[in-house]
Amino acid sequence: MEELRVTGGGRLGPIDSSRIPRYAGAATFARLPRLDQVDRADIAVVGVPFDSGVSYRPGARFGGNHIREASRLLRPYNPALDISPFERVQVADAGDMAVNPFNIGEAIETVQQNALDLTADGARLVTLGGDHTIALPLLRAAAERAGSPVAMLHFDAHLDTWDTYFGAEYTHGTPFRRAVEEGILDTEAISHVGTRGPLYGVRDLEDDRRFGFGIVTSSDVYRKGVDEIVDQLRQRIGNRPLYVSVDIDVLDPAHAPGTGTPEAGGITSRELLEILRGLRGLNLVGADVVEVAPAYDHAELTGVAASHVAYDLVTLMADTLTPATPAPIAEDH
Ligand code: MN
Ligand code: MN
Repeated sequence: MEELRVTGGGRLGPIDSSRIPRYAGAATFARLPRLDQVDRADIAVVGVPFDSGVSYRPGARFGGNHIREASRLLRPYNPALDISPFERVQVADAGDMAVNPFNIGEAIETVQQNALDLTADGARLVTLGGDHTIALPLLRAAAERAGSPVAMLHFDAHLDTWDTYFGAEYTHGTPFRRAVEEGILDTEAISHVGTRGPLYGVRDLEDDRRFGFGIVTSSDVYRKGVDEIVDQLRQRIGNRPLYVSVDIDVLDPAHAPGTGTPEAGGITSRELLEILRGLRGLNLVGADVVEVAPAYDHAELTGVAASHVAYDLVTLMADTLTPATPAPIAEDH
């Protein structure tokens, strides 16, 4: 079956939905071309089917493909930011990394190496998890490519700065403590957003503050509103290279039931998208959307939310990248 694609801006775009219905065929993110169908990508969307680091409900290993399936309805023009990201730069789906489900250490190394390989030509990554363990190797790769520690906004109900769990140092609850210890985060400009829910004790917060994290709670978003939160975050980040990590459990379970450690009282998908759009113009060097566990999802709620989050992250990146000379389109597409 021949794939028909819109080719605005000289780039290979999504499959033409006026010719092939959106629900037909194998899913790539936003029906974009695969990485092997383009000469090179400015932005690559890649999956990491790994959830061996979870502490509660498993299933995020199926998150990437669930987000891809739910992304079929994403259209090429983003009116909220007035950009057609797939025309401005070449975006492609790089498929899934092949990670060992039985060896967390090896999985982390694989993710780091794959992320470095995918960004060797200057491409930026939007990664679909997978559980939050994968943020550590993704941050390592982002910091190496940036040539410096990176600023980070971490959208999550949880801090993910715990030390160990059952003696394990590398889990989905520890990546950002490890990242601070490794010196790959710019501790002048790191913040959690959407934090809520019971903790083990006040020490969790004290440790977190000591590492340098700011906290914008879910309650802060509700009480102060999106604009004030965005101003606060932008001031802290400035023009530093920025990594954005989105644990989908930052959303209320009403908006994202399909996740492993749900907490009541979360922000809405509208609030999350508005905060992300408020980051326009910042130097977004990498991003992930993690912890989507489709077995607990209903009516693709979580998948749809995650696909829109990933779409806006791609748009923010595309917005700041300088469009290259339109690439010639290969004959056989
Ligand atoms: Mn979480
Ligand atoms: Mn998390």
